[in-house]
Amino acid sequence: MKHSATFLSLAETLERIRGTASKKEKVALVSAFLKGLTPRDAEVAARIASGRSSERGSRDEAQVGYSALLGVIREVTGATESAVSKSYLKHGDLGELAEELLSEKKEQPLFKEELTLASVDDAFARLRGTKGHGASAAKRAIVKSLILAATPLEGKYIVKVLTGEMRTGLVSGLLAEAIAGAFGLSEEEANRAHMVLGDIGVFAGKAAEGKAAKVEIEPFRPVNFMLAEPYATAGEIAEHFGRLVYAEYKYDGIRAQVHRSKGETRIFSRRLEEITSGFPEIVAAFKDSKREFVLDGEAVPFSDGRPLPFQLLQRRLRRMEEFEEAARQAPVTYFAFDLLFLEGKETVDLPLSERRRLLQRVVTGTTARTAESVDVATEREIQLAFRESRDLGYEGLVVKDPDSVYGMGKRGSGWVKLKEELDTLDVVIVAAEYGHGKRAGVISDYTFAVRDGDRLKTVGKAYSGLTDREIDEMTRKLKEITVKDFGYRRQVKPEVVVEVAFDSVQKSDRHDSGFALRFPRIKRIRDDKGLADIDTIAKVAGIFSGQKLKVDEAA
Ligand code: AMP
Repeated sequence: MKHSATFLSLAETLERIRGTASKKEKVALVSAFLKGLTPRDAEVAARIASGRSSERGSRDEAQVGYSALLGVIREVTGATESAVSKSYLKHGDLGELAEELLSEKKEQPLFKEELTLASVDDAFARLRGTKGHGASAAKRAIVKSLILAATPLEGKYIVKVLTGEMRTGLVSGLLAEAIAGAFGLSEEEANRAHMVLGDIGVFAGKAAEGKAAKVEIEPFRPVNFMLAEPYATAGEIAEHFGRLVYAEYKYDGIRAQVHRSKGETRIFSRRLEEITSGFPEIVAAFKDSKREFVLDGEAVPFSDGRPLPFQLLQRRLRRMEEFEEAARQAPVTYFAFDLLFLEGKETVDLPLSERRRLLQRVVTGTTARTAESVDVATEREIQLAFRESRDLGYEGLVVKDPDSVYGMGKRGSGWVKLKEELDTLDVVIVAAEYGHGKRAGVISDYTFAVRDGDRLKTVGKAYSGLTDREIDEMTRKLKEITVKDFGYRRQVKPEVVVEVAFDSVQKSDRHDSGFALRFPRIKRIRDDKGLADIDTIAKVAGIFSGQKLKVDEAA
């Protein structure tokens, strides 16, 4: 059997990738590294390069908190609190801090053994498996043994993976391209395999085995979701399709992929994470089904025939201990709108009209039911359907082409959405402050940022939109992820994604993006989204120039 490649060789490759701005060079570096690796090593290397330590959709994560990591680094290096703070302020990155401080280790391992991709992955698996009473001490011990065995450069990348902050500029499209190059797949084969397998590591492993060209959807392995293109008016949608299409209500809940096979039901989120335990009603709704299928749909808080506010779902995902109360307050109905797999076969390449016909046979209940839809063709019909949807408490419409296939992971023109309001932005909180008056003692002012390539650029500060209860939860969470405490102000790990509404975008030198949102307010906390899903500076700039256009036209 071939030996596992050294972890150092991967760390060095990642370092080179970080050092070049050229996408082509990044792809070439990864590709050259992957070539010749065993399938297991290729899987581990690709996953780590993508910034993850565990497979997408796996039940457990190898997460280790900032403070635990800092604790281990201090223990191993003997660094003082102020040396740690200084290093963090200098780099703004825990991985780089680890690299700097680990060059002076106080402790040494008993046996010096070189880390390999397999041994690091085994340690990650042990972290995932460590649960329950005493888990945090056991996890620290695992991380400590890794850090002790690591060179400073290796330590840097171990910490980067464990904090999910790789920042190599290797977006998943580039990684997929590199895997395709290393193992001789066409772009189309690679894209499809990546979308079907969901996890970039599993994809690389299959590619190294020579089996990626013909992968198929399988129950319990979540696939990437199809997304809808935003349109501003009913007229544009009518023009885009130019014929009879389906207008489905746009349900405001949590996107959920329901997998059922061999008597078991499992549910996955948009981020391909398992969320089964948060939705016992959906599991119960399918418990007697003898069929095997994968569904796409939306889990919506729903009672007496009407949708309830989306916020009522949040607690299901976050505060399991109050789950029963949450479920009583906001029972969930699952609105299925697509079928991806049925009885051993993929259905994604069938036309939507056919998928829908099959879906209606599989989903026949009330707690799990099919999405409402009306046939529309003209602008007027779309407008009427939109009004009806809004009057019933839904968000708008998703209009779909009956002939379209299910484009996994694509924002396809086969699905377009129509919402009423001005666009909102998904942003990440990077800093926060204590409030005043009624809000004294709680962290209620949030500075948030959008993405600019690898960097985060701030675009505003929001004070309103959350309930007192949400502010309490946010206070707890932000304290937990604080990386630097300045007393009244804290710098936090960029992790909490919120959706903000605003009146307009202005030019501003108050924020490093050069823009500021006017009157931003938080519409909701987006637990279903991660750092990779936030909006970009390009979108902000686009909204800014769109506004200008409108003003110019009006003038
Ligand atoms: P947005 O979150 O505004 O980008 O809108 C797209 C989201 O709408 C999808 O990711 C789904 O979660 C949600 N959605 C609600 N109803 C539907 C529907 N009938 N078809 C597709 N997506 C829907």
